[in-house]
Amino acid sequence: MKIQTSFEDCIGNTPLIRMSRLSELTGCEILGKAEFLNPGGSVKDRAALWMILDHEKSGALTSGGTVVEGTAGNTGIGLAHVCNARGYDCIIFIPDTQAPEKLEVLRTLGAEVRAVPAVPYRDPMNYQKQAGRFAESLTGAVWANQFDNIANRLAHYETTGPEIWEQTEGLVDAFVAATGTGGTLAGISRYLKEQNKDVKIVLADPMGSALFSWVTTGEPEMSKGPSITEGIGNSRITDNLADTAIDDAIQVSDQDMVTMIYQELLTQGWFFGPSTGINLCAAVDLAKKLGPGHRIVTILSDTGHKYQSRLFNEDFLAEKGLRSWRPQRLPQRPTKVGSRFSTKALAASR
Ligand code: PMP
Repeated sequence: MKIQTSFEDCIGNTPLIRMSRLSELTGCEILGKAEFLNPGGSVKDRAALWMILDHEKSGALTSGGTVVEGTAGNTGIGLAHVCNARGYDCIIFIPDTQAPEKLEVLRTLGAEVRAVPAVPYRDPMNYQKQAGRFAESLTGAVWANQFDNIANRLAHYETTGPEIWEQTEGLVDAFVAATGTGGTLAGISRYLKEQNKDVKIVLADPMGSALFSWVTTGEPEMSKGPSITEGIGNSRITDNLADTAIDDAIQVSDQDMVTMIYQELLTQGWFFGPSTGINLCAAVDLAKKLGPGHRIVTILSDTGHKYQSRLFNEDFLAEKGLRSWRPQRLPQRPTKVGSRFSTKALAASR
């Protein structure tokens, strides 16, 4: 048995899980890469580690330095963990529209959190641009820059892609995932296409993002939004996503995502966050397009714990015009009088 010796050692090598209900429903094998099992709890641990290693290698980040980032949450969480493990300070700029649970966990992990108004990327006060300027102004600081630092997609090219190829023994027809920075999809696409150019790469997109239109028409036109998903969808093509081979895109509504999340939780026991719901809906859609007998891999990005106040809050969902889902339970049969479980029968048996 191999013993791991650090937080960083435990990043990656996540299990690949057969999503039983969805596989049976579609006749395809739908496999989920369990990225929620990374030690920081999400797919972004890999990118966080790779970006820090990259800044260390370049000599920009040295002992006692500071890592600054603009993030919707999970990258910040990954960075905060790795910063603690390697002796750096961590400062996170986050849009103030993000789930409060994420801000709390970042503070608990020791990061300095700066919640800033959520404004479009073109605005100089956008959280990513503020993070970049702040890092430049601070001695000994680096900007992780997850959107345009290709160490992010390299993490997935060097680890997630090869793991998927090995775990499926090269038998994979398609990979589908939503993207935020594009690192996950771009890195995995590059690796899988190098092994077999026929592996289909499909981008899953929430409403209110320009990526579905970019893949299907070549123009990044924003679709009608908004969406309650966090950390996925984008209005621009990042350096990580640019020049990536993508065969198709699938758009998923918030209602379909919510239903998927509740069905997986209440009938299968899986507690996933919203981007995983988008991924699973897109995987089912893709399975229907491809027909039975195909093997489709997707990403199980994080768990539902950070989304209690939103995705798992009936009042919040109702405000957004969304409905949760409950299984239809058969009415409980009353205990028959005189049955072997009645008090009388039990007493008589003593
Ligand atoms: N799912 C979740 C939960 C995320 O936090 C992110 C990143 N923000 C993504 C998916 C998208 O991953 P990537 O940035 O690699 O495109």
